[in-house]
Amino acid sequence: MLDADGAVAADELEVEKLRARALATMDRAYAPYSRFKVGAALLGSDGSIWEGCNVENAAYPAGMCAERGAVSAAVAHGVQQFDAIAIATEAQEPTPPCGICRQVLEEFAPQLLVVSVTREGKMARWSLADLLPRAFTPHSLDRR
Ligand code: ZN
Repeated sequence: MLDADGAVAADELEVEKLRARALATMDRAYAPYSRFKVGAALLGSDGSIWEGCNVENAAYPAGMCAERGAVSAAVAHGVQQFDAIAIATEAQEPTPPCGICRQVLEEFAPQLLVVSVTREGKMARWSLADLLPRAFTPHSLDRR
């Protein structure tokens, strides 16, 4: 089911569950360099929830974002369809996913609902289509 923005409409109970899981996962992030902890909770279309946190590295580019960690966990367990993701940070304002994560989410869920929350309780919602318009998709490869 899609809402007016074209994003999958998740019920509020699911959003609350995702918010809580993303915040709990944020606390386990490994971010000694940026000190910017991020947690993500990804809702599979089958109702499963997959968590990820950012994992930094002394070789900075080797670090991994929370959102992509959650996608990897889900795919490794056979889940490839998603309805929503919650992202939690300690920033003052809700933080959208980075460009690389937007691209990875697009691969599996172009209609994804993206919810971002702060520890203080602020929340923002976007559709992935709003965050990544005119995306490069699997169909883009058909144009070769
Ligand atoms: Zn990212």
